[in-house]
Amino acid sequence: MSQQGYVATPPYSQAQAGMGGYPSGFGAPPSQPLYGHYGPPPQSYPSGQLGALKSPASSASALPPSPSPAQFSPNGLQNGAHSQRFPPPISTPSVSQYGQPPPAMFPTSASPAQAPHPTQQLTNQLSGMQISGYGHTPLQGPQSPSSSAVPPAFHPPPPAMGHPPLMSPGASSPMGAGPNMGAMTTAPPMGAPGPFPGQPHLGGGGFPQPPGPAGPQGFPTQQGAYGGQMAGPQPGFPGTFPGGASQMAGPPQKKLDPDSIPSTTQVIEDDQTKRGGQVYTTNLRGQVPPLVTTDFVVQDQGNASPRYMRCTTYSFPCTADQAKQCQVPLATIIKPFATIPKNETPLYLVNHGETGPIRCNRCKAYMCPFMQFIEGGRRYQCGFCSCVNEVPAFYFQHLDHIGRRVDFYERPELSLGSYEFTATVEYCKNKKPPNPPAFIFMIDVSYTNIKSGLVKLVCEELKTLLNQLPREEGAESSSVKVGFVTYNKILHFYNVKSALAQPQMMVVSDVVEMFVPLLDGLLVNFQESQSVINNLLDQIPDMFADTNESETVLAPVIQAGVEALKAAECSGKLFIFHSSMPTVEAPGKLKNRDDKKLLNTDKEKTLFQPQKGVYEQLVQDCVSSGCCVDLFLFPSQYVDVATMGSVSLHTGGSVYKYSNFQVPVDGDNFLRDLRGDVEKPIGFDSIMRVRTSTGFRATDFFGAIHMNNTTDVEMAAVDSDKAVTVEFKHDDVLAEDTGALIQCALLYTTVGGQRRLRIHNLGVNCSSQLADLYKSCETDALINFLAKSAYRAMVNQPLKTVRDILVKQTAHMLACYRKNCANPSAVSQLILPDAMKVFPVYMNSLLKSPALVGSVELSTDDRALHRLMVTTMGVEDTQVLFYPRLIPLHNIEAVGEGLPVAVRCSEERLSEGGLFLLENGRLLLLWLGEACPPELIQSLFNVPSFAHIGSEVSSLPELDSPQSKKLQSIIKRVREQRSHSMKLLIVKQKDRLETLFRQHLVEDKGLHGGASYMDFLCNVHREIRQLLT
Ligand SMILES: [Zn+2]
Repeated sequence: MSQQGYVATPPYSQAQAGMGGYPSGFGAPPSQPLYGHYGPPPQSYPSGQLGALKSPASSASALPPSPSPAQFSPNGLQNGAHSQRFPPPISTPSVSQYGQPPPAMFPTSASPAQAPHPTQQLTNQLSGMQISGYGHTPLQGPQSPSSSAVPPAFHPPPPAMGHPPLMSPGASSPMGAGPNMGAMTTAPPMGAPGPFPGQPHLGGGGFPQPPGPAGPQGFPTQQGAYGGQMAGPQPGFPGTFPGGASQMAGPPQKKLDPDSIPSTTQVIEDDQTKRGGQVYTTNLRGQVPPLVTTDFVVQDQGNASPRYMRCTTYSFPCTADQAKQCQVPLATIIKPFATIPKNETPLYLVNHGETGPIRCNRCKAYMCPFMQFIEGGRRYQCGFCSCVNEVPAFYFQHLDHIGRRVDFYERPELSLGSYEFTATVEYCKNKKPPNPPAFIFMIDVSYTNIKSGLVKLVCEELKTLLNQLPREEGAESSSVKVGFVTYNKILHFYNVKSALAQPQMMVVSDVVEMFVPLLDGLLVNFQESQSVINNLLDQIPDMFADTNESETVLAPVIQAGVEALKAAECSGKLFIFHSSMPTVEAPGKLKNRDDKKLLNTDKEKTLFQPQKGVYEQLVQDCVSSGCCVDLFLFPSQYVDVATMGSVSLHTGGSVYKYSNFQVPVDGDNFLRDLRGDVEKPIGFDSIMRVRTSTGFRATDFFGAIHMNNTTDVEMAAVDSDKAVTVEFKHDDVLAEDTGALIQCALLYTTVGGQRRLRIHNLGVNCSSQLADLYKSCETDALINFLAKSAYRAMVNQPLKTVRDILVKQTAHMLACYRKNCANPSAVSQLILPDAMKVFPVYMNSLLKSPALVGSVELSTDDRALHRLMVTTMGVEDTQVLFYPRLIPLHNIEAVGEGLPVAVRCSEERLSEGGLFLLENGRLLLLWLGEACPPELIQSLFNVPSFAHIGSEVSSLPELDSPQSKKLQSIIKRVREQRSHSMKLLIVKQKDRLETLFRQHLVEDKGLHGGASYMDFLCNVHREIRQLLT
């Protein structure tokens, strides 16, 4: 039972003992507390790298992470010279679908007027152009006849659209970049820094500033209270201003057509067009899978499905020097329990009986397609460590004429990327088969939860929900046991043994030395005890109906849950429904340490550091007992999510937060979350191990995990939403012919109490050409990694430092591509690798995400929650979180099976007559333009016009109209695609909630700080030019 005994279980511990082949590998010390993968600051820009970039200005030594003015100034003149060749300022020609005039609330650019620019011709051409429709940005030129070898170039619009090529004059044609570049080349809006004498301002934060006043944090200050914030640097609506752009006051804006900068929605649509509906077979090493947003079917032919494993790049550089040079993180995001669509094959279970799975003697890797059978099938060579192993007699099989075992297709472990093994008792705690797990429902019955109606709601729901407990595949009923505890300052345990006529309550008021007062009858089978349990659930709300108790404990509650599981010798999950900060004199008492004065100081990070002591010990206890903690929080004020949530984070649990909970408003949303959480696929008491072929190794892990050493990733539980992001580092040279092989082995207990090993294998290519790496990058995976590593770093370093490093790394990755992989071109051109062309918009969104941007208007708990949430996310979740989906729905009647194509997340894509649904995986916002046609309003809200919709409208009525039914079904479909239920909020244009909506328009200037996409691209381009000159 003890944790040590568990960790020392032979199959896992021997792997460490047998590390002979990996002297510097798995024995490495824990990673440094500094911003992990970048290494300590002085190494951020290693001199070797600079050498490669041949920077004449600073070839001497490593650059510090923060740019000093001295490093920027020498380039000033040169930048100015180049920038004269930039395209002229262009105003966005944009007309709404309904031809509504642009609202006054969308003012023209709030950027300070800039010096006049000579090239008026282009402006005139553009201002005569009209763009209509949704999502069809005029950028989609004809697809190049691209193959996988030559990624499609970033095309200018077809001439028919009236778009001039948005190229620097240096380029001969829109395709001037040449096929080899596989790159988008565009002259970005360098107008800002360029033609003006002023050099890039570095704000207080070191974040390169767009021209204009800088906020205290280094972000541009907001321009005005309302429209200005949003419109910021966005170009105006020329078609709607009398006379168009040329009549705008002052000199033309120094802005490029926003349609000319890479569009995420376009990239998503293109991938869907190109790869959607296809079968993706995993037979080739180093294949780049379709995007997470694309609908495709996976056929496992030897590598794990991208649903289980996605990589930041599918071509690793051969040497550590190259990896350092490009600074592209090498990582994989593993979602071991990912949900698989019904039309894909579930994992096969392989049972080798008492012998257990076959493993390499040296590195302990499991039998997989990477093992090479030799000597007529009598031996096999391990693909990970090259050790030659004997094939056990029972496993012997002859080889065919190509050296493949004749039973290749009959054995999943020889031919598939993912499968499961039945584990033997050697893999179990104390060498005893585990008991099925238990779910314990622990309900805070203090005044707040009683008064809000929450307690009654939970009790009512459980009566039906407990019929839906997860079951072993093929089993008739669930083996999961259930138990119930209520608490405020003291705890109440319930005996719900089936033999009882009435449930029995036992009170424990000594919360300092927590113990469980009953062993028999606390954890029971729901079916057997159903009547006693229903009786209890009926009584609980009444029992505490008159309570005045408003104080609560938390740590003793968790402790009680762990003790109960220990006593029952099983793993399990605690569902805790909690309302307030635990302030009672008891272990785990918390104080309000929220302090807005810390924002934008070096101490801001302390707000996100969990309180040490009791909660740390609880995590240890929970993990060693296989006890996962899910927190459902219903706070009305600060509750220290950073501390309370840390227990969930490190036990594989989830945190849900419903601020100022009201049953009529939030009840449905909460219940959907609760149902999803109870029913989702999950494994318990798990340990994950990531093995690699020689030359590189897993060095860092991010997720809802706990680690007691550097290699064993412990998770009290792991469910279908949780992903672990793993970073790799070289420790030798990788060979191009063998590639880089990764095997993830997850040992866990099923909901039925079986011990199993789930294996995922993936091979990626290795190349000495950096161009291969960039060609095989995946932006969504890169952002997942960078978000998780930044969110870890932010508890140890000032947020400003973290943001600076992200910007520097972005510039560095792109500069290295430019230097080493792109054809020579004018430095004024921004050249992005095709696979990373929307990387900057995601990066900018990450930089201004609630966790990384401090604002007095954001609650500390929400920021802490955002941080915890992202840490557990897979690639699908981070993709939509950092670039929400904005779906135009004004033509709702025309919406068919597929949803309308999303439009870019920018205010200028909205129209007053429009209706838009925005989702980011956590929240659904239905935005109504104030000129929305009355007929549409009538059919959706049953009121005559926009003005008749109350400003506090919180739900969408279910009406009998076709439009209403269609909208309901669209919302249902969107919800089904996400793991969280997503509360729906109705946002009226210019109404109070619009601020919340605007925070999600990530291409615009941030409401709480942070640049617009356009400005960020300028900043990054400026940084790149600094690196290249
Ligand atoms: Zn091996």
